[in-house]
Amino acid sequence: MDMNIALVPGDGIGPDIVKEAVRVLDRVAELYGHRISYKEIDAGGVSIDKYNVPLTEEALQTAASSDAVLLGAVGGPKWDHVPGHLRPEKALLGLRSGLGLFCNFRPAVIYPELSAASPLKPSVISGGVDLLVVRELTGGIYFGEKGRNDDGSEAFDVMRYSVKEIERIARKAFEAAAIRKKHVTLVDKANVLETSRLWRETVSRIACDYPDISVDYMYVDNASMQLVRDPRHFDVLLTENMFGDILSDEASMITGSIGMLASASLRDDKFGMYEPIHGSAPDIAGMNIANPIATILSAAMMLRYSFSLENEAKSIESAVSAALADGVRTRDIATDGDEAVGTAECGSEILRRIK
Ligand code: NAD
Repeated sequence: MDMNIALVPGDGIGPDIVKEAVRVLDRVAELYGHRISYKEIDAGGVSIDKYNVPLTEEALQTAASSDAVLLGAVGGPKWDHVPGHLRPEKALLGLRSGLGLFCNFRPAVIYPELSAASPLKPSVISGGVDLLVVRELTGGIYFGEKGRNDDGSEAFDVMRYSVKEIERIARKAFEAAAIRKKHVTLVDKANVLETSRLWRETVSRIACDYPDISVDYMYVDNASMQLVRDPRHFDVLLTENMFGDILSDEASMITGSIGMLASASLRDDKFGMYEPIHGSAPDIAGMNIANPIATILSAAMMLRYSFSLENEAKSIESAVSAALADGVRTRDIATDGDEAVGTAECGSEILRRIK
């Protein structure tokens, strides 16, 4: 297969971690007979330095004309003083909205080898946790009408969803469940909100098209509790924008290690943008100690969701698990007695375990 990938290294540790993900992708391409071409895009602080804007129209067009985007991270103290509309983080919003990415996938996986990093008790996570939060990203209360009354004594934010918006993300969730443990949980507040009732109606209708996938429904207050009480209950957790914002942070926290968590932002076709959930870590930039695993796992998600290369995606994930099982640890996930490896060494250890 030919793959045309836009790379957005960004700022801070971004270039170092993207470099390791590219080495891993190249190794997979070599082993499985694919051809990858890369185009590098400036976004974030690096773009502000060169062009005075966090994202140029040309950079957006290059991203739009690729098959998929792999992003490191943007931002850092150097650009903290710039006006709000020019901040490096605006590049992320520009890419997400400019590319029409309405669906956010955030897996939360507790690797048995790293279970000590989780704040949850061993009895709660024994056997491992592997769930995927599917969050609607471009609708709901964050994008609804908002305002204040004339004297400023009242404010409002409108939550609005259309059947079309719910359908398209529900299908993404069911398709994801089909290649996982075949279980979708819709999280809503259908006992109070009309939008949630529309979500339930629509999701139960769409579920008929996926007869081998089981569905359950959970109120968001209960779901936030179940995530820490029994996270193994969940496979795919589907939810609207604001609930997803909150629950995806909660889910990532139960894994305890920010350097390990990948994400994907998708739309109706196969196109997607893939990035670690952490930021540019300016405190450790250029020191060869950043953990590249979140970015490497984001590259695996890219192979799975943008190129339907499930075996290749699994080969990366298995190599990461094997490296962890063999004791490979960057400083952030090392515990007492572990000898930490650097960013590039971690990449090499994963690379040589790809089968
Ligand atoms: P951060 O995620 O960059 O760092 C938080 C802490 O986690 C730091 O101590 C950092 O050293 C550590 N850390 C993060 N990633 C790591 C990795 N891969 N390996 C080892 N340690 C890692 O969050 P922050 O410090 O709040 O933000 C720094 C900058 O990043 C800010 O400018 C912020 O706006 C930006 N940011 C960007 C994104 C993005 O590009 N998606 C996301 C969040 C924050």
